[in-house]
Amino acid sequence: MVLHHARPAEDSPLKLEELSTPSPTNSQIRVRVRCCAVCHTDLHIVEGDLQLPKLPVIPGHQIVGFVDALGPDARRFKEGDRVGIPWLHSTDSTCEYCQRGLENLCDNARFTGYHVDGGYAEFTCVGEEFAYAIPAIFSDENAAPLLCAGVIGYRSYRLSGVRKGERLGLYGFGASAHLVIQFARHLGCEVYVFTRTAAHRDLATKLGAAWVGTAEDAPPQHLDGAIIFAPAGGLVPHALRVIRKGATLALAGITMTQIPALDYSLLYQERIMRSVANLTRQDAREFLELAAAVPLQTEIQLFALEQANAALLALKHSQIRGAAVLQIGK
Ligand SMILES: [Zn+2]
Ligand SMILES: [Zn+2]
Repeated sequence: MVLHHARPAEDSPLKLEELSTPSPTNSQIRVRVRCCAVCHTDLHIVEGDLQLPKLPVIPGHQIVGFVDALGPDARRFKEGDRVGIPWLHSTDSTCEYCQRGLENLCDNARFTGYHVDGGYAEFTCVGEEFAYAIPAIFSDENAAPLLCAGVIGYRSYRLSGVRKGERLGLYGFGASAHLVIQFARHLGCEVYVFTRTAAHRDLATKLGAAWVGTAEDAPPQHLDGAIIFAPAGGLVPHALRVIRKGATLALAGITMTQIPALDYSLLYQERIMRSVANLTRQDAREFLELAAAVPLQTEIQLFALEQANAALLALKHSQIRGAAVLQIGK
């Protein structure tokens, strides 16, 4: 499914096209895609909320498939291995951020389904160092949302600074938060969920939330950290109001509507507000190991590849419970 021009999801911007099969170069592997989960970032790409460095582009960065061909220097995988491909497609490995262990901030990072064609397709290629073995306990469809919703959720959780036994707040309860609640509880945290959508509140309760309410509600206790997943800047003052002194508010989205003017007292007492950008390869490896140990149960809604526009539209209108996944190859 190819995007030629960014347009609202209502206008079905993705078109089904027949393309030639890509060939892996150097240490790339070619992957025959089995499925690809749909991310909010895909919606931002398709609708042009992000500047698009490449058009036409095939979106999709939560890819699960089987290695189908190897570039001349590829050694890590063999044909038939099952792998996942996330958002981080490559880095330069030399810039000051890569040198500091912050390759998620690499000056020359390239992202899957954004700078290079992604997984809303039958085949895709990636450098072997940027693909990951998928733990055997996950089906292809259940593994796909782990690759962005899961990994970014994990990085957001890490940056929230919340530790074992502490209270974590989650604003918005879509694909990412429904995974975060599971591993956070596995790690001994109490999870407080803020969402307006009734179906999302039900899912949060089912997954063991200690408390469920809306952003305007006050939880019974101060929280030790919080993550905002919804791209709504208006949530920021609400979240700052309920976290304790010295706690961190992590903003997980790639874009957000404007944050309203803040009264300094909401931030004072050493509260920290920070954004979360991309992932490192270490995040992906650590998270996949944790996901299998929990083990995470992904709630998914399946769509055929040709229904990608419908999946994006459902995501836009908060009609997806858990994650939307496109089924592609058989
Ligand atoms: Zn770099
Ligand atoms: Zn994503």
